[in-house]
Amino acid sequence: MTAKADIVIVGGGIVGTAIARALSRYDLDVVLLEKEPDVAMGTSKANSGILHAGFDAKPGTLKAITNVRGNEMYREIYQDLGIDIKFIGSLVVATSEEEMVTLRDLLMRGSENGVPGLEILDRETVLQREPNLSDKVLGALWAPTGGVMCPFGATIAFANNAVLNGVKIYTECPAEEIVVADGKVTGVKTAKGFIAAKYVINAAGLFADDLSRTAGDNSFNIKPRKGEYVLFDKTAANLVNTVIFPTPSKVSKGILVSPTVHGNLFIGPNAQDIDDKADIATSPDGLQEIIAGAGKTVPNLPMHASITQFAGLRAAAGDGDFILKASDSANGLIQAAGIQSPGLTAAPAIAEIIVGILKDQGLALIEKANFVPKNPPKVKFHELSNAERAEVIARNPLYGRVICRCETVTEGEIVDAIHSACGAVTVDGVKRRTRAGMGRCQGGFCGPRVTAILARELNIPVTEVRKDTTQSYLFFDKISGRCKSND
Ligand SMILES: Cc1cc2nc3c(=O)[nH]c(=O)nc-3n(C[C@H](O)[C@H](O)[C@H](O)COP(=O)(O)OP(=O)(O)OC[C@H]3O[C@@H](n4cnc5c(N)ncnc54)[C@H](O)[C@@H]3O)c2cc1C
Repeated sequence: MTAKADIVIVGGGIVGTAIARALSRYDLDVVLLEKEPDVAMGTSKANSGILHAGFDAKPGTLKAITNVRGNEMYREIYQDLGIDIKFIGSLVVATSEEEMVTLRDLLMRGSENGVPGLEILDRETVLQREPNLSDKVLGALWAPTGGVMCPFGATIAFANNAVLNGVKIYTECPAEEIVVADGKVTGVKTAKGFIAAKYVINAAGLFADDLSRTAGDNSFNIKPRKGEYVLFDKTAANLVNTVIFPTPSKVSKGILVSPTVHGNLFIGPNAQDIDDKADIATSPDGLQEIIAGAGKTVPNLPMHASITQFAGLRAAAGDGDFILKASDSANGLIQAAGIQSPGLTAAPAIAEIIVGILKDQGLALIEKANFVPKNPPKVKFHELSNAERAEVIARNPLYGRVICRCETVTEGEIVDAIHSACGAVTVDGVKRRTRAGMGRCQGGFCGPRVTAILARELNIPVTEVRKDTTQSYLFFDKISGRCKSND
């Protein structure tokens, strides 16, 4: 492991990886530390995946500024990086006169934030576009720049591009302490040794306050706010055509009903303040709450078509705005913390701001001549015509073997995912890169095959293959020594 870097980024979520990619344009030695075996293992793997237009946040806040800018930036970079995005637009639906007043406030707020194309639609127009909405609808705010995107795909795309441009990502390498001497950062103590660096970027998500405290900066606390979801099969995808928000409350944007970028449908999230930063369990009460909440805008939800449930945790801090600043306590520590929604949308703009802060702190930014802006194109077998399929199979017969039947993912794509710049090392890592295991059977059929491919490609025994986290081994046996004879 490199014992010296110009900058250490802590956290391999959308924020840390977007910052890593932004910094990889410059002639700098950048290291990213992630405590889990893969990137996109925190909040960035479990959220609504909405590319927000930017009408929700209070004008002038970092949330508002980075949301609108981030939305613009994704439009410029998504094809280069291979991020799945659909610009389907969003509707905030009002079902009472009081909510219609809120829509007009949102329209004004959005215009102040610089969101293009906002418009209030009347009941008839809304129902024409979305015939499955509740007949209580009185009108809706239409935001044409809203969309849906793959949150973990985006995180992995930033990470891949950062690695292609020289960033080193150390996974399973928790940052234990930001070491400070005479008020200045000198490096990071990790579980695998010390890395000397003058600058540390704290993008540790839910744990950013704990990490900050190790550098003597106690200026904020992170409180987890849980949001639960139900995901539906592709058979339910046509229920709505756009992202459907209810009229928002003070604490959340409300329970939405939306297609996903990959053609499923989801409902959620709710918003519950909790204490445990690791608690991502769903609960019967929470699920009932989101089913009831979603049913207010879209009745007749096809609950028989639900295929899984999950929860994500917002990293709520202080006054609710993002914390993007140089620390007042430790010179060289830059905070990218309290990144609640719309952090996924805002991430490229957050990265731009963090690069600016580093420049203001005296870091020399010399552009590399050989920066590679694009990720290599990926084979997506299910999207190909028969002629294209024949062509890729002729190139590599592994594209001719379908491993995941629900999502039509081939062995060739799984092998590509394992050997990409920031490659998959776990079953869920393969799932997030290829969609193998994301379908109706949720990996029931392809899981063992993906495990065998991982073992072969990583040259490890199957007993060493993990589902997602460091200790999540899939097999327990006497050979691995993880199962005692009296277990
Ligand atoms: C319910 C919900 C819905 C949301 N919906 C949307 C949406 O639709 N659109 C949108 O724009 N945003 C949305 N968001 C917000 C968005 O998901 C987050 O803002 C974003 O994912 C935060 O990214 P992050 O990189 O800051 O955090 P994370 O993704 O949590 O990344 C932090 C990383 O740091 C690692 N880490 C922590 N401590 C250490 C350490 N000591 N050493 C090394 N690594 C460490 C963690 O393992 C993790 O991988 C939603 C969030 C939630 C919870």
